[in-house]
Amino acid sequence: MKWSLQGKWIAGGFFLTLLLMGLVSFASYKNTIEIRESADQVQHTYETLNTLTDFYANMAVAESGRRGYIFLGSKQELERHQTAVKNMQSEIQILRNQIHPSSSQLQRLELLTFLMNQRLNLFKQSIELYQRNKSAFQAQDLITDKSVKIREEILKVLENIKTEEQRYLRISLYESQTSIKYRTILEILGTFLSFAVVSSLCFILYRQWIKREKVEKLERSLAQEKELSELKLQLFSMISHEFRTPLSVILLSSQLLKEILQDVVDETQLKNLYRIQSSAKLMNQLITDLLTLNRAEAGKLDFNPQLINVESFCLNLLEDLQFFAIKPPVLKFIKYGCFSRAKVDEKLLYSILSNLLLNAIKYSPNGGNIYLILKCEPETTIFQVKDEGIGITPEDRQKIYEPLYRGQNVENIVGTGLGLAVVKKCVELHQGEISVESEVGIGTTFTVRIPHTTDAVT
Ligand code: ADP
Repeated sequence: MKWSLQGKWIAGGFFLTLLLMGLVSFASYKNTIEIRESADQVQHTYETLNTLTDFYANMAVAESGRRGYIFLGSKQELERHQTAVKNMQSEIQILRNQIHPSSSQLQRLELLTFLMNQRLNLFKQSIELYQRNKSAFQAQDLITDKSVKIREEILKVLENIKTEEQRYLRISLYESQTSIKYRTILEILGTFLSFAVVSSLCFILYRQWIKREKVEKLERSLAQEKELSELKLQLFSMISHEFRTPLSVILLSSQLLKEILQDVVDETQLKNLYRIQSSAKLMNQLITDLLTLNRAEAGKLDFNPQLINVESFCLNLLEDLQFFAIKPPVLKFIKYGCFSRAKVDEKLLYSILSNLLLNAIKYSPNGGNIYLILKCEPETTIFQVKDEGIGITPEDRQKIYEPLYRGQNVENIVGTGLGLAVVKKCVELHQGEISVESEVGIGTTFTVRIPHTTDAVT
């Protein structure tokens, strides 16, 4: 399957949008995870701080329990002391899982455990001493002093652990804030880009839709036009057929009349008969021209090129047209070059040359020479029709090939403005060219160039 350029753009755009959406979704997923992790981290740090506080509180309770027991001998105080000691030991275990697993924090925890064990040993010694000797106050004071010193050290270690945990929390919060910030920027940028790409795609699709609408509209109007021109052609064919039959009857009857009368009446009296004949011929030509033009417009003008002898074709044509010339000397044939056959459509060539020659006769009201010149060139067959008639003004030269256009200087010379339009269509079918050179009052030369196709010339 071949993709058009726009198709590629659309597919690329969709792919890019999907990629951007994927990126945005991934960034927001990561943000959610990180926010949750940060919340967990805060929670975890607060739990660690709470454990440290509990540990400190239990240490104070253990101390006061010990004192209560050795001063008052209360068993309740001893139990209180023992419970607090157990709590301290389990809290140290909890702390092992809770504190940040950096080596410095672990070292601090080890130190804390060591100091705690020392203090617990002192508690144990003091209790055992009390149970052995209830009045060894001096020794008890000594133990208490040592215990207070250790307590101070424990306090310091606890404070350090706390500060370090808080520092780690701050760092981790800062890092996640920064990465959340970048991903949020990425999210906004991705969303904006996706929006831009989707908008561009919509725009391209909209333009394509408009284009397709236009093409469909054009196709519809073309089809309508084709239908109309076919209808027109049918109508013209019908009308021309209906006209041609009575015209042939007129021509035939006038010819018969001429043959009967030409020995009975003199030439001047036959003038009206000639007029009837030439008018009927003109009308016939008009119908033929209209039909040819319509066929050409509908693309239904037959084009069947065949090898013909152009020289004898030209001579026959001139003979046919002698009848139309009024004042001699009239139609002359000149040939340059050494070929005699070319590949052309005989009917169309007849239309081309007869129209040009009839125009030359028609627009030479004062007579003068009219030449049909045949030239042979290596690539082209050239036909020239040259007259010494009224000529064509420079402004008219551009427009004379338009259907129904007539020159400004034709005055009362009858015509329809269709002949040259037909000539041009027939020349175009041969892929040839037509040009004109003219000077008002001096004469006109039309040149038709028909290119040789392979085996066109012998
Ligand atoms: P028509 O001759 O019926 O007017 P054409 O299409 O054959 O229509 O010619 C268009 C116009 O070109 C004519 O009206 C005329 O002004 C000009 N023209 C054509 N051939 C000649 C010529 N040989 N000499 C002078 N003018 C011409």
